[in-house]
Amino acid sequence: MTLAASDPALLDRLEAAAPGRVRSRATDRLALAHDASHYLLTPQAVVSASTIEEVARLLSEATADAPITFRSGGTSLSGQAVTDGVLIDTRRYFRRIEVLDDGRRVRVQPGATVRQANAWLARHGRKLGPDPASEAACTIGGVIANNSSGMACGIRDNAYRTLESATLVLPSGTVIDTSRPDADEQLREQEPELYRGLLGIRETLLSDPALAESVRTQFARKNTMGYGLNALLDHETPAQMLAHVVVGSEGTLAFVAEATMRTIPLLPHAATGLLYFDDLESATSALPALIEAGFATIELLDAASLRVAQLDALAEEGLRRFTVADHAALLVEFQAATDGELDALVAAGQPVLDALPLTVPARLTRDVSSRAALWHIRKGLYAAVAGSRPQGTTALLEDIAVPPEALARTCRELSVLFDRHGYRDSVIFGHAKDGNIHFMLTERFGDREGLDRYPAFTDELVALVLAEGGTLKAEHGTGRMMAPFVREQYGDELYALMVELKRLCDPRGVLNPGVIITGHADAHVRDLKSALPVEEEVDRCVECGYCEPVCPSRDLTLTPRQRIVLRRELAAAEHRGDERLVRQLEREYEYDGEQTCAADGMCQTACPVAIDTGALVKRLRAERVGGLEQAAWSSAARRWGRVARAGSVALTVADRMPEPLVTGASRAARAVLGAERVPEYRRPMPAGGPRRSALQAEKPVAVFFAACIGTMFGAEQGSDGERGMGSAGALIELCERAGVPVRVPDTIEGLCCGTPWRSKGFTRGFESMRKRVRDALSEATEGGALPVVCDASSCTEGLMAMIASDAAGPPVAEQPANESAGGVEHSLAGGASGLQVVDAVSFVAEHVLPKLEVTAPIASMVVHPTCSSHRLGTTSSTVAIATRIADEVEVPADWGCCGFAGDRGLLHPELTAAATAPEAATVAAQDFEAYASSNRTCELGMTRATGRPYRHVLELLEESTRTVDARVDAATVATLSASATPSAAPDVVGDGVRPAQGPVRPIRTDRGR
Ligand SMILES: Cc1cc2nc3c(=O)[nH]c(=O)nc-3n(C[C@H](O)[C@H](O)[C@H](O)COP(=O)(O)OP(=O)(O)OC[C@H]3O[C@@H](n4cnc5c(N)ncnc54)[C@H](O)[C@@H]3O)c2cc1C
Ligand code: SF4
Ligand code: SF4
Repeated sequence: MTLAASDPALLDRLEAAAPGRVRSRATDRLALAHDASHYLLTPQAVVSASTIEEVARLLSEATADAPITFRSGGTSLSGQAVTDGVLIDTRRYFRRIEVLDDGRRVRVQPGATVRQANAWLARHGRKLGPDPASEAACTIGGVIANNSSGMACGIRDNAYRTLESATLVLPSGTVIDTSRPDADEQLREQEPELYRGLLGIRETLLSDPALAESVRTQFARKNTMGYGLNALLDHETPAQMLAHVVVGSEGTLAFVAEATMRTIPLLPHAATGLLYFDDLESATSALPALIEAGFATIELLDAASLRVAQLDALAEEGLRRFTVADHAALLVEFQAATDGELDALVAAGQPVLDALPLTVPARLTRDVSSRAALWHIRKGLYAAVAGSRPQGTTALLEDIAVPPEALARTCRELSVLFDRHGYRDSVIFGHAKDGNIHFMLTERFGDREGLDRYPAFTDELVALVLAEGGTLKAEHGTGRMMAPFVREQYGDELYALMVELKRLCDPRGVLNPGVIITGHADAHVRDLKSALPVEEEVDRCVECGYCEPVCPSRDLTLTPRQRIVLRRELAAAEHRGDERLVRQLEREYEYDGEQTCAADGMCQTACPVAIDTGALVKRLRAERVGGLEQAAWSSAARRWGRVARAGSVALTVADRMPEPLVTGASRAARAVLGAERVPEYRRPMPAGGPRRSALQAEKPVAVFFAACIGTMFGAEQGSDGERGMGSAGALIELCERAGVPVRVPDTIEGLCCGTPWRSKGFTRGFESMRKRVRDALSEATEGGALPVVCDASSCTEGLMAMIASDAAGPPVAEQPANESAGGVEHSLAGGASGLQVVDAVSFVAEHVLPKLEVTAPIASMVVHPTCSSHRLGTTSSTVAIATRIADEVEVPADWGCCGFAGDRGLLHPELTAAATAPEAATVAAQDFEAYASSNRTCELGMTRATGRPYRHVLELLEESTRTVDARVDAATVATLSASATPSAAPDVVGDGVRPAQGPVRPIRTDRGR
């Protein structure tokens, strides 16, 4: 079936309500048809609403009776964020975060992610209560609408308990701010029927103690089935009832335009351990004692999970060697505000642990990497099973809760169900403390067998869980998945009250119909997602959306998930023989999918199954490359020294010409040859940089591979007002100052890390460069005896990948360290050649920094991490250097990849502009004395975005650690260099000549000199 055209009258009305915000191309609609659930519905249009007024107009006037669904992070698992009506994207614009009362409360808009809010709160030692595992990608809007929780928060700190007030837009367009003293009056005046109805439902519940008790019992544990009628018992005023019943209502009652949440203390000190038990019964019997002992998290792993965990790369020796039979494990963690408090918790908890019938004695660890390894195992379960599922299957995650005493029995029965229905490899894990467990099924919804098996399994699951007094959804929301079973869980009377609540809020039934309340007994098996086998990256993707917030093109064109699902949609259209749609999708993908992908691999750092969508895009680009271009770039590889110099001269000449002349010429050339081939010249743009050349050294400790981007793009002004020496010059100067000898290969001028060829798919040129680099470095490093140091983080990464592509084994550099996930820095890469590469910031932090004295400290510095430093795990070294020379160092909470990506920022400046907008706004809000990064093109991208001079942190270090003599020397040389012509520009690293001749969680650190 082809994609039906959107209703033009509807599109006109939407456009009138939200001008310029409506998208309805096939790409827009199909990209957003997918969320993390196993349901697929294609919207007629996507509207990125930007103001509360726009939302009110869309709800009240524009859509008439077309269904409306809000989409935020799209990480929902139960089908509540998809629609065949109008999808309102609320993540693009509603992102403001305002910390109140020194962090004890936060006012936040719904499009901000939990991680972003927590990054701001961390400065105040606070965080949000809800702690979903999806915190990097899920948003406040989704957390409130799903009443999300997580490992530690239970029902004490979930969204329902921590919501203080909300600004709501009702389907009628009425806006109610429940924080206002007159909120009830407003509600009574503007929505009299709703006002009376809320009081009426409360009255019904209160007048029937058995009914009220049933509600209290259902919501005394984690429960996201149906509407949270407990809100009408816990609160007395209609405005507060409304605010709290909207929590968990999955976008079916109102739009949450803003919320004020109470926060909880951040507990940074932790002790973690994996407790092994002989069987599930002994593990679950231990729960009361462990809860009593004060463990903040108690995560269950069944025997199947333990077997999967044994394969985890970070699994400790004990776990690997463990012979798993019927065993089960509990991952437990104490959390405390101070070390002293943690000591007390551990001391009191030890006797409890000693008394448990454990298979091996308990051991709690405080070591950061051991703890990270344990959590990696637990969090990796989903990825391990989902990532290795058979091609063409869809993964779905179930989420039930039963009373703790029924947990072991339920787990056993579930295993029986898996066997009976042939669901192999299903693992059971989850938040044992709350009786809340998850298990994943992989199903083939394209086959009749799968379509029959899934509902049969679900029927038995429902019977099992309800017989144990449990809930069918504990934290993921009812969605479409469990909507047909709400009545069964609550009974007719409570269900009728829920239906009445929906009618009162949404009389036209336009908000997310089919979710929570449905008239279809088979709603859970309608509109299921099936997956055709496509290609390696695409087939592994579970569409979870974790990768979206880190993607530099997310606000311009597509996210990594959208790039992947469009490949699926293209394959499906081809399979159906829908030629028109195929042509349309291919046409739109060229710019949206390929040209505006920075290919920076940031998506891989966030992906639970380690998919690098950038690698997919590079492959697609390679398929487009013609023979002529291949030949031209192969030739460039052979003459790289000259090409780089020519680029440098061109920039210097352009720098001296009137701007309109150069921009006009570049625009004209782009018009003729295409925006993908000719860079756009736009100021600020530096002049060209100096040449690279060899440097001899006696007993060198490393080989310095000066990146060619330092030749192409000259440095920013230094603190003395003269052109800076660039990162290469700074590194040589610093090494000399610290007495750390380094050598530069004889043929450096013609060498490159290969990224320009690899990123564009010029395989022949890359191959030729790879051979030359390998030969040159093998000789310079004396067969790999010396490490190779590179001064631009993206080139360090490129060099690692190039060298690793020589290796027989898996390329080390292709496995991201992912700092945000607590990864361990690894800036070295081995290859068949035995070469090791280290980024300059890590080399300097370890070997040079300790030998320097700070003579001219900097008051304040902002650091922009780069995608490469993040992937390599070297941002901490940049921050360490910054911290040594600056009194105050800040990494913006909303830092992200700048999207400059070598030349992408020149070819498509709109990509860098979109990628840097949030960080630029943060940086602009405050003045800093210095702006630092670790890659020349990223510095250029950030300079353009902020209007502030970003420089390599090594240049700043060089200036801050100059002796008086060095200052005079540098000033004299800088004056000389200012008058040098580009072709006569002295070598940066030549012959011992001084080069000068020629924001997660924001890190706020105090200088530790
Ligand atoms: C791998 C994985 C792990 C997960 N782990 C957890 C976990 O540990 N705990 C947990 O509780 N959940 C978990 N989830 C589920 C999911 O991440 C959460 O429910 C999350 O809060 C959804 O947020 P979102 O921003 O993605 O919302 P979306 O999926 O975009 O939307 C969720 C619902 O909210 C509605 N909505 C969105 N914004 C608004 C708004 N402003 N006003 C009104 N309605 C709105 C939507 O219409 C939809 O019904 C996990 C999901 C995945 C994929
Ligand atoms: S690429 Fe990875 S992170 Fe992104 S949606 Fe797919 S599985 Fe999730
Ligand atoms: S490589 Fe970068 S730009 Fe491309 S999809 Fe991944 S994160 Fe987005």
